[in-house]
Amino acid sequence: MNASTVIPEQDRLNLAMLSLDGLSVGDAFGQSFFFVPPAVADSRQAERHIPPPPWFYTDDTVMAAAVVKCLGRHGKIDQDWLADEFAREYRREPDRGYGGTARGILHRIGEGMPWKDAAAEVFDGEGSCGNGGAMRAAPVGAWFHDDLKELVEQAKRSAVVTHFHPDGQAGAIAVALAAAWMVTQLDNQRPRSHCMIEFVLAHLPQTETWWRLKKALTLPLEMSPRTAASILGNGSQVISSDTVPFCLWCACRHADDYTEALWSAVGVQGDMDTNCAIVGSLVTLGTGYEGIPADWLAAREPLQSRLS
Ligand SMILES: [Mg+2]
Repeated sequence: MNASTVIPEQDRLNLAMLSLDGLSVGDAFGQSFFFVPPAVADSRQAERHIPPPPWFYTDDTVMAAAVVKCLGRHGKIDQDWLADEFAREYRREPDRGYGGTARGILHRIGEGMPWKDAAAEVFDGEGSCGNGGAMRAAPVGAWFHDDLKELVEQAKRSAVVTHFHPDGQAGAIAVALAAAWMVTQLDNQRPRSHCMIEFVLAHLPQTETWWRLKKALTLPLEMSPRTAASILGNGSQVISSDTVPFCLWCACRHADDYTEALWSAVGVQGDMDTNCAIVGSLVTLGTGYEGIPADWLAAREPLQSRLS
């Protein structure tokens, strides 16, 4: 019997929502560091002073909420529905920090171009290998945590509507696998181990993200996050291979501590909203809601209306 028939859909939705809350608080936390002088950001980090509320989330949260809504309605990734929802949300709020390539793709989908054509035509037909598929993938992994074959397929489907390049899809698959590991394996983890990364590598297609993630295995978790990011990337290129390896390493380093995970993620600069979104979406699956401080959750702008 397929295990997916055993777990009630409401339980899957609860896990996806937990991941989305961790993701959106992380996204909004990271984003709030973009417009402060570096010295202020450094002092906030050193003293663990959170930014003043409200924290506004970005495209990472908007798109991940659409993914969760899609799963709640359809029980799987319905790509036509998801692409339309992405385009609708983009048209409604175009200033949520979408990257230039995403803006073009979502605009063209909104104008009626089939998503397959819009996603495939960018970068001279190679498609995007950006980190946008990865940033919204953890809820997919949370939902399908008990069926890895389905997880890989659905994570890929969730990414390809905007990320036609295989490595853009690999980033999404990697984050979804990491989410499944957090749901199912965290309790068995040795303290501060790379087990989650080993698990992801065992199931991930061997594109550029795989190779960079393999490098992450060699970096001790005691290493400073800034040193690790100088080797793995900090998302400043906004591509999957430059973003996902550090995020997974950071999630391993702080698998039981949501706030320290985000302080480490934001401290390496780069794509701070997305790095914190990915790390937050994963670590919260281990810590549960107890891991997110009440004042952090309250600082994030409201999310619930997006899911109805
Ligand atoms: Mg963003």
